[in-house]
Amino acid sequence: MQLSRRDFLRSSPPTPAMSAPMATRLADLARDHPEWRPWLALLSVAQGTFGDPLWLRAVPDGPATVEPEPLPAPLLEGAVLMIDPDGADRFVRQIFDVAKSNGGSAAPLEAAAGDARLDALAILEAAIRQDGRGLNRWATSLAVEPSALRVVSAVVATPLLHACRGAWHDRLPHGWTQGYCPVCGAWPTLAEARGVEQSRHLRCGRCGGDWRGDGLGCPFCANADHAMLGSLVGDEPRESRKIETCGACGGYLKSIATLGATPADALTLVDLDTVELDIAALEHGYVRPEEPGYRVRARVVGASQ
Ligand SMILES: [Zn+2]
Ligand SMILES: [Zn+2]
Repeated sequence: MQLSRRDFLRSSPPTPAMSAPMATRLADLARDHPEWRPWLALLSVAQGTFGDPLWLRAVPDGPATVEPEPLPAPLLEGAVLMIDPDGADRFVRQIFDVAKSNGGSAAPLEAAAGDARLDALAILEAAIRQDGRGLNRWATSLAVEPSALRVVSAVVATPLLHACRGAWHDRLPHGWTQGYCPVCGAWPTLAEARGVEQSRHLRCGRCGGDWRGDGLGCPFCANADHAMLGSLVGDEPRESRKIETCGACGGYLKSIATLGATPADALTLVDLDTVELDIAALEHGYVRPEEPGYRVRARVVGASQ
């Protein structure tokens, strides 16, 4: 299926610009998309804390002991993350406060940032678990829009998730064939067709995870029937961005051609910069799965001072 050129907002060059340093990317996107600035400011605050001892010290050294499940467990399954509660509290309230400048449904986050009922560890835990019901309960309790809290809590979780992925690099399972992230259990944010060989890698925008998955099948339902798999592409001869679709589950995945691996901390920006693909996929009736790939039973608890 071909999409017409107007289906794509070609406001910035494709992947070559994505290899520039993070700050340059942020500046470029802010210049090209003034309407994204509040959101970019939010990402900038969160990513500015990547590598902070607050997060690094919270990552447990050894693997968790987990009950066997029918599905292979990501590394975060059963993990207990012990974090400085004061540092976590300051960070979560800061993110809420910055997010308010998005206006609209995000405006009530300003009051929530100062709300004594806000439990930063519980929000972090719900976000890491991709616990939509838990987050909805917090939205009610803090009088904020559930959708706004979902978006903000996803940002809140990224520094801790990136710390886990980085610390557990040597424990990453080889040959992970599941569609969900081997670190955090999320569905891939996008696929990369990497290098001259166009080798396919799945990437997680939450933790920066990078895995091969199971060949070219659908990561969401494992459908490998090529008659049911398709793609939506632009009309340029050397299209570097496309949408992979699955007729079996109705899911879609963005796919971009890259020279090498997209830096882990740039995935969120690439996700944002390819939003035109999401819009095109939705217009064609494809959706992302509502349920997470694997709901990790991780816990976030306060470390004693
Ligand atoms: Zn992940
Ligand atoms: Zn599928």
